[in-house]
Amino acid sequence: MEVFNSPEAARVFVSALRSQGRTVGFVPTMGALHAGHLSLVESARSCDAVVASIYVNPTQFGPNEDLAKYPRTLNADLEQLRSAGVSAVFVPTNEQMYPDGFSTTVEPPRVSETLEGTCRPGHFRGVVTVVLKLLNAVPASHAYFGKKDYQQWRVIEAMSHDLNVGTKIIGCETVREADGLAMSSRNRYLTVEQRARALLLSETLQHVETAFRGGEIQTDILQNSMRRMLLGENVSATTANAPNLHRLDTLQYAQIVSAHDLTPLSSIDRPAVALIAGMIGTTRLIDNRELTLDVN
Ligand code: AMP
Repeated sequence: MEVFNSPEAARVFVSALRSQGRTVGFVPTMGALHAGHLSLVESARSCDAVVASIYVNPTQFGPNEDLAKYPRTLNADLEQLRSAGVSAVFVPTNEQMYPDGFSTTVEPPRVSETLEGTCRPGHFRGVVTVVLKLLNAVPASHAYFGKKDYQQWRVIEAMSHDLNVGTKIIGCETVREADGLAMSSRNRYLTVEQRARALLLSETLQHVETAFRGGEIQTDILQNSMRRMLLGENVSATTANAPNLHRLDTLQYAQIVSAHDLTPLSSIDRPAVALIAGMIGTTRLIDNRELTLDVN
């Protein structure tokens, strides 16, 4: 497995494969790899070669976010990628990505303006700028993103379409722990007590899906019931004395929007997605569930 630090070296390697007519699947990550990342690698293996990147991009973190403490496990990550059959890994430094004098950024698309875009000002500008830089260094035929970061996937899809990036953007299903918690590099920050409460996200999404499948399509009703669950307002009598055991510490959003462009819906009359973001202690967690009526 090749490891490249410079964008030029990565591009030479990938361009050579592409000029031989080979497909290349690209999996960008920030490292601290888990089974969710490895599922993207597995999807990318339908290409002739797989290239991954590991880069904790400072420009997508806000001033009060976890950039400094973001987990960094490079050697273990490289070992996992090697075992997964990856051909090359691009591991740039900050100096290589943002050398002195760097001043160009990409204006993120409209789909970035809601949800995460509201909670994390500047986040998507950082994301689309770094992803375009990564795709220029790794001009792959296909690039794989997790639906765990649903809005990020849609933002990158729109950026890539709007700016005629030649790489096909593919969204991959969220990988979960056995109890339903969406895998995330940030889960390792959680204490045992917080880890138990983090289950509220996937449980709430399961509840909303069940209600939807039972025929409820009014989003205000579904959203209210999501918020009540996440804020512990429907705790049973036995837990009412300790409501913090069954709630997020802060709920940032619980919304149901159009799956394609993330615009608000009053009723689910087209493919939709329910998205949640909130804090447990100092850890920010997100999760989502697509709500689509199966057409048989
Ligand atoms: P990150 O390292 O958190 O930036 O994530 C790198 C890629 O892995 C992104 O496309 C994420 O959406 C994806 N990813 C993260 N967690 C999961 C998961 N649990 N299931 C599927 N994909 C994931």
